[in-house]
Amino acid sequence: MSNYTIIQNGFVIDPEKNGIDQREIGIIESKLADSKDVLEQGTAINYIDAEGAYIAPGFIDLHVHVFKDATTLGIEADLVGIQQGVTTIVDAGSSGCANYQLLKETVIQQSDTEVLAFLNIAKDGLGAGLSELADPTNLMSVEEATEIFAREPQIVGLKARMSGSVVKEQGIAPLKHARFVADALHKPIMVHIGNPPPYLNEVFPLLGKGDIVTHAFHGKKHGILNEQGYLLAEAAEALQRGVLFDVGHGTSSFSYQTLQKFKENYTEPFSISTDIYLNNYDNPVGSLMLTMSKLLALGFTLEEVVRAVTIRAAKAIGLTEQGTLQNGTQADLTIFKLHDERTDLVDSEGVVLTVNRVLQPKITVRNGRVVFRQ
Ligand SMILES: [Zn+2]
Repeated sequence: MSNYTIIQNGFVIDPEKNGIDQREIGIIESKLADSKDVLEQGTAINYIDAEGAYIAPGFIDLHVHVFKDATTLGIEADLVGIQQGVTTIVDAGSSGCANYQLLKETVIQQSDTEVLAFLNIAKDGLGAGLSELADPTNLMSVEEATEIFAREPQIVGLKARMSGSVVKEQGIAPLKHARFVADALHKPIMVHIGNPPPYLNEVFPLLGKGDIVTHAFHGKKHGILNEQGYLLAEAAEALQRGVLFDVGHGTSSFSYQTLQKFKENYTEPFSISTDIYLNNYDNPVGSLMLTMSKLLALGFTLEEVVRAVTIRAAKAIGLTEQGTLQNGTQADLTIFKLHDERTDLVDSEGVVLTVNRVLQPKITVRNGRVVFRQ
């Protein structure tokens, strides 16, 4: 059946424009369209009332874990996807080249949410425990990477976790290998930072334009900021080269204080993601919208937090059909409300922020169809 839809009465946030305006959004089949064209061409037009709500491109979460069948931490993709107003999620390294096929069959092909993947540089991803880079024989070769990236369009980059507990005696070596593979593929690396070793003065120099540093604002020792609240020289240089910082909230990787200090001294944009999985879904992460609400409470504007989960996230992984409201692109939309309610929101350090408003999902549209309604 043909699909001619007009969404009315909403406040539109176009991440490629400034400000918020009240206008109609049209959809023809699975693509965004001018509402005038919908009226001219449509026979039976389907109207969606977005009264009192905001309309934005479908939100993109660059860091989730949804590989239920091979990892104990995997969470249901649609639960953290379309049901939370997130149309595209990127599984960040739960799978590697040895078990990606299972992720594809059990999650990617089974979900209404668009599921993409950063492939772990370790062959089994997180499927064989959480010290995946401690054994150098578990690293994916350039040949294996080239073969799987050529075959699987849902794989958008590499993932390498740089924490002492992950790399053990290997130190910086697995990231050097990831750099080598990424250069051969011309794909970004998402690098997780945490407790050293390796230290950030070894990690950042290996990263180039387009690479993503997730957990950028963690509150652990040896983070991106010195005690005065300024970036380490290597981190500042990486930002200058075009390395993207990403929130990656997670159980223990997002600190209000770190982000506040960063905000006082820097205006460089970053992306917002959750690192959501089974054990942090209830607490402290909640959802992408709750994570965005935390940043709103820290003084970022609504347009800015929307940009951080739409156009900026899309560009980071080379998507041109998502994250935008341009006519002719994939009609993925997030319709949400800003709900006035005093709510306590906690970061990964246990710090509570009492906020006055939170984002709430209302309607999720994917490929032109309503897939969720609150
Ligand atoms: Zn993660």
